[in-house]
Amino acid sequence: MIINAPPWPNGARAAVAFSFDMDADSVVQVSAAGRLDHELHALAYMRYDPVVAVPRLTALFRSLGVPVTYFVPGWVVERYPKAVETVLAAGNEVAHHGYLHEWPTKQTLEQQRETLEKGSALIESISGQRPRGYRAPYYGVSQQTIDLLIEQGFAYESSLFADDIPIVLQTDSGSLIELPIPDSVDDYNQFVSSRAFDYLMTVSAPERAMTVFRAEFDAIHEMGGLWIGVWHPAVSGRPARAHAMRLLIEHMQAKGDVWFATHEQIADHVTGLMQRGEWQPRVENLPWYPNQLPETRHLGKKQD
Ligand SMILES: [Zn+2]
Repeated sequence: MIINAPPWPNGARAAVAFSFDMDADSVVQVSAAGRLDHELHALAYMRYDPVVAVPRLTALFRSLGVPVTYFVPGWVVERYPKAVETVLAAGNEVAHHGYLHEWPTKQTLEQQRETLEKGSALIESISGQRPRGYRAPYYGVSQQTIDLLIEQGFAYESSLFADDIPIVLQTDSGSLIELPIPDSVDDYNQFVSSRAFDYLMTVSAPERAMTVFRAEFDAIHEMGGLWIGVWHPAVSGRPARAHAMRLLIEHMQAKGDVWFATHEQIADHVTGLMQRGEWQPRVENLPWYPNQLPETRHLGKKQD
């Protein structure tokens, strides 16, 4: 069982939030800076995301009546506005995913702040509203990231494998809703085998990958939690995988009593429950370790 599972709208047993990290070739722009003319293979792989996969996925999810949250780097908004307009026109959410897919834990505080502001301004310029949510590139969240998200008025964060239901992250700066991710629902683990990306997994048959994702959903459905998929258009938007995704969603719909929502809708639902005193999430007070453990002092200076 899941202890203290929240009530979901209309008595649903579980909530499902599909998310795609719409990285496009932002990752390659950084990893192959200065030699992009030698990296056509990597660029083509990732440009498949906005050019081919996003229109296909948008149509697929629309036909099934399931909303999606797209986490989009600001550079992708600038470079591929048509793809972002396509997902917005279908009523989906666009949320923050860095500017050039920077690794937050490798940035200074000031660089992180600038990246957040730049990405938010670009998303606002295309959607008409500032993003309410954030997922860190590479899941690279630091304590500073959480404080900055609170400072900049974000409603939620979704990068941690911290629980099976929403929780609250509390710091000296304030609080933020965390929408945790099951640890096995990232599609890179199933499908990506590329020397260019230094990621060499054994490629799964789509049905086998969906068996993993469906098992997570079935357990969450039984216990009353939150299922979030972390997928990438360039990876999961390929024909056989998109087809298998349709079958997975049809399985979820056939089970019934599922609330399909964007991340933003889930964060707003949780906030409403808290404000009305109908449910209280678990609160994690950060930082977990404000001081370096005495036992580890010989291992070096704490990063700042
Ligand atoms: Zn990403």
